[in-house]
Amino acid sequence: MGRKALVIGGGIGGLAAAIGLHRTGWEVTVLERSPALEDAGAGISLAANGVRALDALGVGPAVRAAARPQYTGGTRTPAGLWLARMDGAALERALGTPVCGIPRAELHRVLREALPTGCLRIGTGTVASAAEWDADLLVAADGVRSGVRAELFPEHPGPVYSGSTVLRAVTAGPVPLDSDFELTWGPGAEFGHIAFADGRAEWHAVLTAPPGLRHPDPLAALGSRFAGWHRPVPELLAATRPEDVLHHDVHELVTPPPSYAVGRVALLGDAAHAMTPNLGQGACQALEDAVVLAAELAAGPTPERALARYNAVRRPRAGAVAKAARRAGRLGHRLSHPLAVSARDTALRLAPSGAAVAMILRHAAWTPPPLT
Ligand code: FAD
Repeated sequence: MGRKALVIGGGIGGLAAAIGLHRTGWEVTVLERSPALEDAGAGISLAANGVRALDALGVGPAVRAAARPQYTGGTRTPAGLWLARMDGAALERALGTPVCGIPRAELHRVLREALPTGCLRIGTGTVASAAEWDADLLVAADGVRSGVRAELFPEHPGPVYSGSTVLRAVTAGPVPLDSDFELTWGPGAEFGHIAFADGRAEWHAVLTAPPGLRHPDPLAALGSRFAGWHRPVPELLAATRPEDVLHHDVHELVTPPPSYAVGRVALLGDAAHAMTPNLGQGACQALEDAVVLAAELAAGPTPERALARYNAVRRPRAGAVAKAARRAGRLGHRLSHPLAVSARDTALRLAPSGAAVAMILRHAAWTPPPLT
């Protein structure tokens, strides 16, 4: 089997794929068209499946060292009433690792540092095919608007707007917080935070809104929208510099591509299964993709056969998680009718303790194949 791989896209998925391929003997080049990471000023939670994938790639210890484990937190109402508590210690007991909260810029740094010098080429343009680069394998990790996916499947409808827009930022400095991770659901809106190891935090505000809606002063708009919400919502907004606020409309692939693999071309990460962020699983699924891809290629006998198995393993798994994420959004911040919100809140409050852990385990209990 040939051993030259070309990865398009230097996001979490592309870098993880490159690490997996490099570790299994491939000569890898990663092409990233953008000189700056779009969401570097944000944070991310990595569930056990994501952390286990990082372990399989050999970078788990470095990620853990830069991350803050999430032991405390859960879901609240705008008045601050707890709807569900997250028992991070129970999750750790069940899965061997806590959920990890980390600045995206740090995760990227760790992934980049695991690659040989010169492997990542930044500021490069579009590539049409692996043949153009004399490669034996092309990994399309080029995100939700994947050009490779569009070329492979011209009939595919592509991404659609999820109905939600997200504003988020990392605070300028440390903020006193009582928990590692929180989500608060109000009618048609969610506010959440992820605490970092250095005392700063990322917050995010999800709003049901038409696409393209932008605010001249986002912090002032959020201050009004979330007025009266429990602490630390106002404190997090107050600790943020206006220029640090990122605003993105969330798009997802409601229709999965017909396959994650065609010949010697694999779709990976958001290019294959962009999902809403409601379960915090998009990047975790990209990390799973990366490990499975490298493992199947290592098992041979040809890239085509390995990629067919990659598709058979990954498409049902990531597709199911994407569906669950969409459902979670509908039951979470997207509910706006007061009766529906009240019924949901009551159901959550009455759910047996351990229900939240069981829900997380459903997606996070994943064991990576060995990478030899
Ligand atoms: P991307 O990060 O989109 O990377 C694709 C890269 O390809 C980009 O850098 C782009 O510049 C490059 N590219 C595109 N076209 C070309 C080309 N032609 N040539 C070269 N380069 C190209 N997931 C979690 O697991 N946990 C979370 O807590 C979480 N929170 C989230 C919160 C929000 C608000 C959002 C929107 C998502 C969240 N996700 C989370 C999902 C996660 O961010 C994504 O699933 C993940 O980043 C996808 O990585 P990727 O590498 O597949 O795609």
